[in-house]
Amino acid sequence: MSATIIDGKAFAAEVRAKVATHVAKLAEQGIKPGLAVVIVGDDPASQVYVRSKGKQTVEAGMESFEHKLPADTAEADLLALVDRLNKDPAVNGILVQLPLPEHLNEDLVINAIDPAKDVDGFHISNVGLLATGQKAMVPCTPLGCLMLLRDHFGSLSGKTAVVVGRSNIVGKPMAQLLLRDSCTVTIAHSRTKDIEDVVRGADIVIAAVGRAEMVTGEWLKPGAVVIDVGINRLPPVEEGAKGRLVGDVDFASASAVAGAITPVPGGVGPMTIACLLANTLTATCRANGLDEPEGLTA
Ligand code: NDP
Repeated sequence: MSATIIDGKAFAAEVRAKVATHVAKLAEQGIKPGLAVVIVGDDPASQVYVRSKGKQTVEAGMESFEHKLPADTAEADLLALVDRLNKDPAVNGILVQLPLPEHLNEDLVINAIDPAKDVDGFHISNVGLLATGQKAMVPCTPLGCLMLLRDHFGSLSGKTAVVVGRSNIVGKPMAQLLLRDSCTVTIAHSRTKDIEDVVRGADIVIAAVGRAEMVTGEWLKPGAVVIDVGINRLPPVEEGAKGRLVGDVDFASASAVAGAITPVPGGVGPMTIACLLANTLTATCRANGLDEPEGLTA
């Protein structure tokens, strides 16, 4: 069997276009969504993400506010900025780029964000709302995976799903979303026994592990739908070259067994920023008492 490739790049472009259309409608009512991104320090990967987020925010017709703070910023100063952004009516979404430098308490900073503006969905209130099936801001990467799955299957009801990875950012919220869509969900992690057998029982496999090409075709039930969240750079084959980007799934062997699979790059990655824009739009609609955009929320 040769798997259908789930084109996250194309789907993300559709999501961004939908967002831009809604934003244009809001403009007619004098409303312009604003996303504030706060970055502390000069981690090169984070700088790239933040630049890309800013660019795509503007392309969607939204206002982008970038706050670059030095690596030695005091916690009190960061909290004061978050407080100002919470109170600023031009700001509908706030994202503090993680990881923060070690001297800053990430939980404290994230939980200082107004939950209604928490477009990353990491605030403890949003975690609780999601877990209890209430209206929450949903973390962008799992939301992107959910959109791809809904698009592929229509309804997810009754499917068995295995999420490999139990991080707060991906694995746990992913499992909650699948549960909400009436999947039978198992969460696997580094202590799971006979993990291959666990994964082999699933109609849907989400790999969010951070281990290059760990999940192989032998782990999969024929026809399973595989969503590969992993982004890993392999060592370069020659000096000076860049290593290849691969996921947590061994694409070659998995695509011979799976029914459908996301590639890396071009699968889940582009969905993450698209969902950040969708979340900013959702937060803006909620803040203004307007209907939420259809198909862009969980
Ligand atoms: P974390 O490191 O926070 O979590 C990894 C999880 O994988 C943990 O729960 C860990 O288990 C589990 N794990 C580690 N090794 C094994 C193993 N050998 N067998 C089974 N489970 C294992 O990672 P994240 O969730 O933040 O990210 C996961 C991947 O997704 C990374 O590659 C990351 O780069 C990528 N990512 C991609 C995004 C995108 O936009 N596409 C966004 C966010 C992340 P335990 O808890 O037991 O230690």
